[in-house]
Amino acid sequence: MKKAIVVGSGAGGATAAKELQGEFEVTVLEAGNTFHPFTANLAAIERLKKTGLLFNERLIQAIFPAMRISKAANGMVLVKGEGFGGTTTLSAGNALRMDGDLKEIGIDLDAEFKEIYQEIPVSSNHEKSWHKTTRQSYEACRDMGLNPVVTPKMIDAAKCIGCGKCVLGCSRGAKWDSRRYLDEAALKGAHLIPNCHVQRIVIEKGRATGVIAGRGWRQRFYAADLVVLAAGGLGSPVILENSGIKCDENLFIDPVLCVAAKMEGCRQAGEIPMPFVAQREHFIISPYFDFLSFYFNRDWHYPAGNIYSLMIKLADTNTGGIHRKGVKKYLSDTDRQRLDEGTEICKQIFERLGVRKADTFMGTINAGHPGGMLPLTEKEAQSLHDTRLPRNLFVADATLFPHSLGNPPILTIIALAKRISKKCLEHC
Ligand SMILES: Cc1cc2nc3c(=O)[nH]c(=O)nc-3n(C[C@H](O)[C@H](O)[C@H](O)COP(=O)(O)OP(=O)(O)OC[C@H]3O[C@@H](n4cnc5c(N)ncnc54)[C@H](O)[C@@H]3O)c2cc1C
Repeated sequence: MKKAIVVGSGAGGATAAKELQGEFEVTVLEAGNTFHPFTANLAAIERLKKTGLLFNERLIQAIFPAMRISKAANGMVLVKGEGFGGTTTLSAGNALRMDGDLKEIGIDLDAEFKEIYQEIPVSSNHEKSWHKTTRQSYEACRDMGLNPVVTPKMIDAAKCIGCGKCVLGCSRGAKWDSRRYLDEAALKGAHLIPNCHVQRIVIEKGRATGVIAGRGWRQRFYAADLVVLAAGGLGSPVILENSGIKCDENLFIDPVLCVAAKMEGCRQAGEIPMPFVAQREHFIISPYFDFLSFYFNRDWHYPAGNIYSLMIKLADTNTGGIHRKGVKKYLSDTDRQRLDEGTEICKQIFERLGVRKADTFMGTINAGHPGGMLPLTEKEAQSLHDTRLPRNLFVADATLFPHSLGNPPILTIIALAKRISKKCLEHC
């Protein structure tokens, strides 16, 4: 049987592994290890915060290795998951279909979304677990004409205890993440190799013959008839660059900025994150307790249970890139204006909750939806394959998105990875 190497095991990689195993002998190479949810006592960490020892977001990795923090040249915090399941293990469980941009360039993913909704349980049945402040903020958004919509979740309501720790990994197994697809692939015979850091793709006479990857101190060549690159929006472009394939300076990251206020006893840190979403033209607004800001931003004061926070997630302009030396990403003036606009709306929501604008405080900008550096255009709508790549090398992650979604991308990445897997079967 022909061999396929899949690089990465997040939304895109796990999907490709599941779809291809059987037709190919699939080996998944994953830089991280087995995922474990964060189970340490949050109250103890809250106390640690008081000592002032938590000063750099990167420290989170020491206590929660699956969450990797890097910083852009200007210090902007970038969050991703490393380990089986990739960043899906850290997701808030939001399950939105966001393929409008792809449809516009001629990519119709209806069939793939139909499959997804048969495979991944999605429901909006969590309203009854909302705390009082969340109900009030929903009503405030509705009264302001922001059209809030209850967020569909890839969460099994029967198993969910509404602990609010989705982004720290679900310890109840209630939240769907891409390890479910990986397990299916493994059951059908796929090999999953952890701690395997792919450095480059070996290309000979216009064909990918395999990849070079490091495990510990050792380097190894993994031979392949097909390579599917799904190391994420920050991982895939670096591997391509190391392999002599230049990407576009088109990086988006979906920056998140939270506006927060002290609200006695609101307990948002212990309820489902992003319970509803208000869509604006260039950003969304949603209640979200930002653990990173709480632990590392000095304006966020202990205890967590008294803070209420509203997130602005921006669809940023595609400017910047990631290279061997790191990430170069700045927010444009337009991005900043849009964040200001979102901030003002959040402050107005707080006013309706009885909080003065002057009493709100800001979170630290952080971002976790990178992509865009090998964007699909109308030209590739049929092939889903950039001509810069050898015929038997496909990319299957958010690197292919033409623009930032400013919205949760997992389902759309999965749909695209499903379609790309079909192309792999047709052409390799
Ligand atoms: C805190 C947070 C919450 C989020 N919540 C949601 C949500 O609710 N809903 C939603 O739709 N989206 C959410 N997202 C975004 C979503 O999780 C990611 O956009 C999505 O998982 C990206 O999928 P991917 O396959 O492109 O990459 P990833 O899921 O990041 O997977 C990439 C994998 O490749 C591996 N890798 C990287 N480099 C290498 C290498 N050189 N060699 C081998 N392996 C490598 C990584 O370890 C990783 O496992 C959230 C993101 C964050 C940070």
